[in-house]
Amino acid sequence: MCIPFDQAYLVHQLVASYGLLDQCYYIRVVPFHRDPLRRFHSIDYIDFLHQLSDNEEDHDQQECDAYGLSYDCPPFPRLYETVSYLAASSVAGVQALIHGQCDVVLNWFGGWHHGRSSEASGYCYTNDIVLAILTLLEQGYKRVLYLDLDLHHGDGVEDAFSHTNKVLTLSIHKRETGFFPGTGDLFDGQGKRPNHIINVPLANGITDSMYIKVFDSIVLNAVRKYSPQVILCQCGADTLSGDRMVSFNLTEKTYEHIVPSLLSFNTPIMFLGGGGYNHTNTAKLWTVISGLVLGRSLETAIPEHSYFLSYGPDYELSIYAGFIPNLNDEPSLEEKVAKVESYIASLS
Ligand code: MN
Repeated sequence: MCIPFDQAYLVHQLVASYGLLDQCYYIRVVPFHRDPLRRFHSIDYIDFLHQLSDNEEDHDQQECDAYGLSYDCPPFPRLYETVSYLAASSVAGVQALIHGQCDVVLNWFGGWHHGRSSEASGYCYTNDIVLAILTLLEQGYKRVLYLDLDLHHGDGVEDAFSHTNKVLTLSIHKRETGFFPGTGDLFDGQGKRPNHIINVPLANGITDSMYIKVFDSIVLNAVRKYSPQVILCQCGADTLSGDRMVSFNLTEKTYEHIVPSLLSFNTPIMFLGGGGYNHTNTAKLWTVISGLVLGRSLETAIPEHSYFLSYGPDYELSIYAGFIPNLNDEPSLEEKVAKVESYIASLS
């Protein structure tokens, strides 16, 4: 799967169908060309992406492989143009926060957390999150919280800022042998000061109530302790029940708890998209979050709109928990949470 245009349309149309766009202020995005991308990505990688767009039909597969442009990150038409927009969108978002144009930014097209400096990885070609955080650091920000709620470990962002305590990366994800990207263990990054890295690895089947407990103990504590000047929250929807990843068992209830909790800190925040392979559930989640941010309660019955038929057979905004066995047992989860809490207490 390439950059999910269909997904982007689906989300945009569902958000619009609830009239939420009328309450938003639009941020204009001018696509990046070369130099702004090179603030994180290597010159040769960006030049290669650019050159690929000029010769879509005729590319050297070996060279593509060297830049990770195969398997889950194949070249596709207008690749360079797309990733330039995508990378610029999150930077434009944080600029709006920096200049006080708004306190909350929604960028459901952003959140490509696996992108590496010289390599595409896990559907991510450029890393808009790293570029956005670099923009904040250049503006003198000293405490940035990056919260990664995607099913997969936020490895690309964690690695990019592992050398600094100006960014706290906190990723809650599935960790299982052989599961991509194969990193994000509990103690990864800890004890290597000044690293500010928190990883919360979970097993399959976690439910809303268990996830909310973990979130309250870890994320809310981390926000209180670190007191970030700004928060970037990646909301990958591959954690939902019914996702093709068949891993966690979450519904919108988790986010109905999480989003108001994060907003209650009155810290400038940008919510980003990310993974999500059940496209209608992903659109539902990001619409629910948009509604929460805008203080709107949304009708369960999905309004008529151009993608209405995709939401059958029930045509409802709700996401239902499935029957995935929960492999997270309370005692070991509590032990894990206690370890992370003591690490948070040691943060400066
Ligand atoms: Mn993911």
